[in-house]
Amino acid sequence: MFTIHNNKFNDATGLNGNANGTSRGPNEFHFVWTNWFNSIFPDDPLKTALHEFTHCVQLNILIDKAKETIITQDRLTFDKEFEKKFAAEYSRWLWESISIFEAKEVNSLSVKYAKSKNLTLAELNQSNQIYNIGYTIIEYMTTKWGKNILPKLIASFGNIEKTLNISSDEFEKGWMAFLEENY
Ligand SMILES: [Zn+2]
Repeated sequence: MFTIHNNKFNDATGLNGNANGTSRGPNEFHFVWTNWFNSIFPDDPLKTALHEFTHCVQLNILIDKAKETIITQDRLTFDKEFEKKFAAEYSRWLWESISIFEAKEVNSLSVKYAKSKNLTLAELNQSNQIYNIGYTIIEYMTTKWGKNILPKLIASFGNIEKTLNISSDEFEKGWMAFLEENY
């Protein structure tokens, strides 16, 4: 699994050299993700493929956008600068939630379980509960702002304030209210 992800990731993104494409890229988390999911959901290869594909789409948008600000002819320098920008700006909760949403990886029992932990978005950057509850974050977002907001939000490197015109705190409160109402 680990190796397959690496190859797919590198092929799809053209990021190679050091196999771990990005410091927070699919590799380390998907290793965890597969184990985690097997205990709750039956393994579903189609969903897994959609999830991976959506990471690739996100990466392609991000790389494209980063070319506007990282000006270099040198591939390795670009990759290095991109990794830095990605790690600093693009939240893991968003990176995972969008892929989880597109793959429809959701189950209301798991959402309820994760909900009972009362984790903030910042905490979900560090927690595997993102795989239980991530779907609802984008469900809320697309219900309120429409699906077209997703490519815009990705292209902004996850800048909520700029893209949704509300503060991150307001967004988080809105999502929590949505959770209370729907799950
Ligand atoms: Zn993922």
